[in-house]
Amino acid sequence: MGSESVKVVVRCRPLNDREKALSCKMVLSMNLQRCQCFIEKPGAVDEPPKQFTFDGTYYIDQTTEQMYNEIAYPLVEGVTEGYNGTIFAYGQTGSGKSFTMQGVSEPATQKGVIPRAFEHIFESIQCAENTKFLVRASYLEIYNEEIRDLLGSDAKQRLELKEHPERGVYVRDLSMHTVHSVGECERIIEKGWRNRAVGYTLMNKDSSRSHSIFTIHLEICSTDSSDQDHLRAGKLNLVDLAGSERQSKTGATGERLREATKINLSLSALGNVISALVDGRSKYIPYRDSKLTRLLQDSLGGNTRTLMIACLSPADNNYEESLSTLRYANRAKSIQNRPRINEDPKDALLREYQEEIKKLRALLTGQLSTADLSTLLAGQFSESSPAVPSRPQSTPTEERKEKIKEEYEERLAKLQAEYNAEQESKAKLQEDIAALRSSYESKLSSLEKAKVSRGSSVPKNVGASCTSQVALEELCMSTDPMCHSTVEETSQTKLSEKDPDRAGLLESSDATAPGPLDQKHVLERLQQLEQEVVGGEQARNKELQQRQRQRKKLADQRKAQLVHALSENSEESENVLLNVYNSIQEEVHAKNQMLVKVQGKLKAAKLEIRDLQAEFEVERNDYLATIRRLEKEGQLLHSLLERMVPLVRRDCNYSNLDRLKKDAVWDEDSATWRLPDVMVQKTTLPSAGGGGQVQANAGQK
Ligand code: ADP
Ligand code: MG
Repeated sequence: MGSESVKVVVRCRPLNDREKALSCKMVLSMNLQRCQCFIEKPGAVDEPPKQFTFDGTYYIDQTTEQMYNEIAYPLVEGVTEGYNGTIFAYGQTGSGKSFTMQGVSEPATQKGVIPRAFEHIFESIQCAENTKFLVRASYLEIYNEEIRDLLGSDAKQRLELKEHPERGVYVRDLSMHTVHSVGECERIIEKGWRNRAVGYTLMNKDSSRSHSIFTIHLEICSTDSSDQDHLRAGKLNLVDLAGSERQSKTGATGERLREATKINLSLSALGNVISALVDGRSKYIPYRDSKLTRLLQDSLGGNTRTLMIACLSPADNNYEESLSTLRYANRAKSIQNRPRINEDPKDALLREYQEEIKKLRALLTGQLSTADLSTLLAGQFSESSPAVPSRPQSTPTEERKEKIKEEYEERLAKLQAEYNAEQESKAKLQEDIAALRSSYESKLSSLEKAKVSRGSSVPKNVGASCTSQVALEELCMSTDPMCHSTVEETSQTKLSEKDPDRAGLLESSDATAPGPLDQKHVLERLQQLEQEVVGGEQARNKELQQRQRQRKKLADQRKAQLVHALSENSEESENVLLNVYNSIQEEVHAKNQMLVKVQGKLKAAKLEIRDLQAEFEVERNDYLATIRRLEKEGQLLHSLLERMVPLVRRDCNYSNLDRLKKDAVWDEDSATWRLPDVMVQKTTLPSAGGGGQVQANAGQK
């Protein structure tokens, strides 16, 4: 298993209006060919600029498009092949993280990494031959060390981190959303953004205080020439980190300071993880120190290809932050990951889908001939697409269709009645139906769009204007949670557990051949399942495939160029020593020049040591200030407790503080203390005549 280092690029934004108004100077410069970045210390004219080399440098005029094509493209492409990938933006607030990740729609070249990744993934999926994909998305936010699901029904609910021996670290109950197109992805991320925005206004915070992770989960099933299926899974994490500025600089107090401490905690934890990984000597990597590092564990030293985009402001008044970002980025370069293709994922939903599709197909062909089945399927499909008159329609099919429709409506009416009876509240029912209808319509419109883009060659959707179809779907949804394409799945729940209806269908199908009614049901289900997966729609689009190859080639060229530039950087000095010179003078001259260069480097290194020590001192003071503040807070709570404990009745276990402290247990997973229940020992005095009796009574808080 090969290892590869984390890729790091830096991006410098232009001076903003405020910085211009303050007549700020530019302290950052770059050599794009050699991927070098230089930063000058303001006011220190005699000091050489500090120099860093990265996997890519993007200055004020470079676009997100260029950056994506050169460095992000291969990473995202890898995800469609079954690798894991993570792209994260790092930098102080206002340095261009969101500009890089979300981007702007105008000009198109500055569209962000996230929308580009959607388009890229769906383009690759559509061009793939003999391959089907199940695409799901999740979106979460970490704020104050609490995880919230930005796409869940309750965005305020705190979610827990869990660890699974095979799956690794995951968020329990995080909602997953099946997506079929770029448009659906965009809608989902917009929904997440809205939830973020609502959270901010409610909690009086802004986006620079929370980390967000948008993840695209892919399951890939490719069929080889001998009709064997091969399953793989890849996921792409797109991370927008909180601002990295130091709390002492922002002058925060109170709640803000508490927040800043937590933000800094997870960012420092990230820094510590990076340091420990790079150090090589440390056996212990402190992933557990923050939620962020636990979630990114696989992206830092694990089975993931990782790209870090360090965003910088060029202004002199941001020198310290920019330098600290550059140092952080420079360290991250040395992290070694071990990415591999995730073959045969154990918990693949796609496998279950494929198996069910196979079973359903077998079931149908058991009763119908294959030809009949395909005509039937085609007949159903073509209802929605009068634009395809070329498909031959046989009268028996028409008849069968009519019959099915009749039976279908009959059954529908019956089920509807049952459904009504089951529902306690009519209002609730209508609400459900409205929600389902809107999701049905959105699915329909996206399918319509997809159909248009496919040149309506393979009509996929069922009766567009058929209201009974809508009703059936609604009904179907009410009993079968897997029935709809935009259904929410929680990451842990297994298909079979959630879908007793379906399991029943399969069981009965094994025992007996389906009747005509079941047949229709089976057909329905088959179509639904087939609509869950995407892939190969543009497999014959030569132009698109050509464009894809072109982009791949460009990324490869760029890589070769980079390797060349980096080797040039290191070869120079060796050449001076190994060269054969014509005369002593020439040799002396060359070596003198090298000496000057090396002396320059030595000076730079000495200055670097001095600066690092000074920065370390500042950081240490920052930590000390935090410790003092926390100590003060702790002391206050302790004093309060000491006053309050004597007021607690003596027969309650909370009257003994030392015992309580001993009994309290720290829970690593939820990062909270588990305290003993409140117990009250009720002592009944012995009654005058009988023997003494002591009763213990437990009460709970
Ligand atoms: P962050 O997310 O790091 O806090 P933003 O992405 O919101 O910062 O950027 C702050 C401001 O700078 C925004 O107004 C954004 O449009 C602008 N900006 C950032 N990067 C660039 C760039 N490369 N080119 C032009 N404007 C930029
Ligand atoms: Mg931002």
